[in-house]
Amino acid sequence: MIQEYDLRLPPETAADELRLKAHISQEKGIDGQNINALRILKRSIDARQRQVYVNLRVRAYINEVPADEPFRHTDYPDVSGKPQVVVVGAGPGGLFAALKLIELGLRPVVVERGKDVRERKKDLAQISRTQRVDPESNYSFGEGGAGAYSDGKLYTRSKKRGNVEKILHVFCQHGAPTAILADAHPHIGTDKLPRVIENMRATILRCGGEVHFQTRMDALLVEGDEVKGIVAHTGEQFLGPVILATGHSARDVYRRLAADKVEIEAKGIAVGVRLEHPSELIDRIQYHNREGRGKYLPAAEYSFVTQAAGRGVYSFCMCPGGFVVPAASGPEQIVVNGMSPSNRGSRWSNSGMVVEIRPEDLDDPALDAPASEHPALRMMLLQEQLERLCWLQGNRKQTAPAQRMADFCNRRLSYDLPESSYAPGLVSSPLHFWMPSFIGQRLEQGFRQFGKNARGFLTNEAVMIGMETRTSSPVRILRRPDTLQHVRLRGLFPCGEGAGYAGGIVSAGIDGERCAEAAAQYCEATRQTTY
Ligand SMILES: Cc1cc2nc3c(=O)[nH]c(=O)nc-3n(C[C@H](O)[C@H](O)[C@H](O)COP(=O)(O)OP(=O)(O)OC[C@H]3O[C@@H](n4cnc5c(N)ncnc54)[C@H](O)[C@@H]3O)c2cc1C
Repeated sequence: MIQEYDLRLPPETAADELRLKAHISQEKGIDGQNINALRILKRSIDARQRQVYVNLRVRAYINEVPADEPFRHTDYPDVSGKPQVVVVGAGPGGLFAALKLIELGLRPVVVERGKDVRERKKDLAQISRTQRVDPESNYSFGEGGAGAYSDGKLYTRSKKRGNVEKILHVFCQHGAPTAILADAHPHIGTDKLPRVIENMRATILRCGGEVHFQTRMDALLVEGDEVKGIVAHTGEQFLGPVILATGHSARDVYRRLAADKVEIEAKGIAVGVRLEHPSELIDRIQYHNREGRGKYLPAAEYSFVTQAAGRGVYSFCMCPGGFVVPAASGPEQIVVNGMSPSNRGSRWSNSGMVVEIRPEDLDDPALDAPASEHPALRMMLLQEQLERLCWLQGNRKQTAPAQRMADFCNRRLSYDLPESSYAPGLVSSPLHFWMPSFIGQRLEQGFRQFGKNARGFLTNEAVMIGMETRTSSPVRILRRPDTLQHVRLRGLFPCGEGAGYAGGIVSAGIDGERCAEAAAQYCEATRQTTY
């Protein structure tokens, strides 16, 4: 017999299979020896009250053994000799597009400017050692894209459950822990992601696809209004319809599209800082317990949002028990972001604290926005300006300008800084003074509000690290909602976050799958051949 139960349990019972069995056996009057296996189907933490509970949906196998895998398998056939589609970028958008193409019987040829996920790790380590960023191999560029060395959070605002589940199941098939299927806020962790990404590449290669690393697309091959392929920096051409999944940091791609008069537009972004607290402080606040989270609860999360002078101010991409990382993708920039290992066990918890900026806000003199080389690149230029300002404030290195949180709100320089997870180091800097007031004043208002929502949150134990500018794409590459092709160029499928149609790993993956489906229809309609 298989039974499912919804349970509300103290953390110590929920965390231990033996205790869980004993609880079910007692509550449901079942002999514990007959419960052969338990499978957690859903798990969430309810920390609204002083007593924290874990809500579980559990499937109990009573006198039965589980016959199936906890995840659904997708079949990936051999696509050698089938019509090919060029996928530019091996981030989640590109990788899920490539796998979906295989599912649909097409041969993906993946072209990625960065290195494979293991080689790339060495370049990330070099950033803190040498204070230099390799412009082709960094936290944004390389196999796995911006999502590889991240927290690997897998929640999304997408309401399409089926699509979200598909992405999670494909991750599990490639080695992600099956807990991601149950957790309300699933995450994989930066220590486990590289293996999953390697396994995805192995599937692509085993099925007859290609993956080319250190191969940068420099131009589209266009005949009339049809994209026929791409030209790489080596001069090599890759032929076929193109799924363009180059992410939000490929500024050379945006510049090239603008110069070639490909239809693109400026898009709203959010910018601010990374805010880092000791994780035990966040645990104490969120779990309402002076002792912190104890042995059985994970590092606590938070999510804050408010309005300040007509614009949203909110926490973004929270990394409990994580690290702040140097996420620049080129010289003379400082960009910060966050990542966490799977156990979220570091001594710090961080999140982006950002202010919404719309293209029309650039007309506000308080932003001091740079003159635009192309109207669609305006928001990108603002990002560049802020990142360079930060680099100058950080002593022209990757040492990031930082200020204690309460000092920022009280407009005081911090005479010292707390210990931080940011490996390249911090420099005390009056962020309240040099950050454009359009952003700084709203952040201050937001912090005061969040401090009221959660007592102890607004504190000098927390440090603000400048600046977080790459929260989303500053440009949208215009595409048709029905065919997902570019509005003018046939055979071009702008995809994922860089094209302005996703924000985060799961939504980029979903968009990758959709673009693959659209490319398959295009191949069918235009009778694409093998090359
Ligand atoms: C440090 C960090 C932590 C993050 N944490 C999370 C998280 O926990 N959860 C979450 O949902 N999101 C997170 N994000 C955001 C998430 O990673 C992105 O939303 C997601 O990766 C976007 O996927 P994408 O495939 O559209 O683009 P990307 O992941 O940016 O991939 C684009 C790829 O294209 C390649 N490329 C660029 N230009 C070219 C070219 N000209 N030729 C060939 N290749 C090219 C790049 O090298 C890159 O590999 C994080 C981002 C960072 C930087």
